[in-house]
Amino acid sequence: MQDELRSIMAPLALEFSWRELDPVRGGKVVPELAVITFCGRCTADGLMPLASTSGPLGWTHISDGDILPFAEVDCDGIRAFLQKPLLALRPAERETRFGRAVARVLAHELYHIFAGTTHHASCGVAKSGFTVRDLLEPGFRFQEQALRSFQQTRLRDHNDVLKR
Ligand SMILES: [Zn+2]
Repeated sequence: MQDELRSIMAPLALEFSWRELDPVRGGKVVPELAVITFCGRCTADGLMPLASTSGPLGWTHISDGDILPFAEVDCDGIRAFLQKPLLALRPAERETRFGRAVARVLAHELYHIFAGTTHHASCGVAKSGFTVRDLLEPGFRFQEQALRSFQQTRLRDHNDVLKR
């Protein structure tokens, strides 16, 4: 998952440092920090051949129109959405593909948080609603325009910080 996220974010030269959330010291939030909750079982083992479900696979919290740096990634939802095609793969490949899919949902939510927008692009990782193909096929990335708005917002925020 981390490898795929690094690859998706490579054009932005964004570096991620992953931390476990410490509930005791948690609660201190800076603009460069995003708190992600992974819900359910975040592995591709024990998949059951059930009918696939629909619904959001991830979401970002919004309060009074402001995007908060808190997002949820629904691992159980992603498992249910992808279980049929994942079960068709060799077990060794399932985990890699599943991790890649989780990274794409995560990258989408990070786009909302760091680009500071609720808008979606028409294609790529910033579009709304992913298909099974989007999550499993290689090379699903942000398109140019999403990368630009991402970059501009990030640079603007960075300049604001420098001005303070
Ligand atoms: Zn979205």
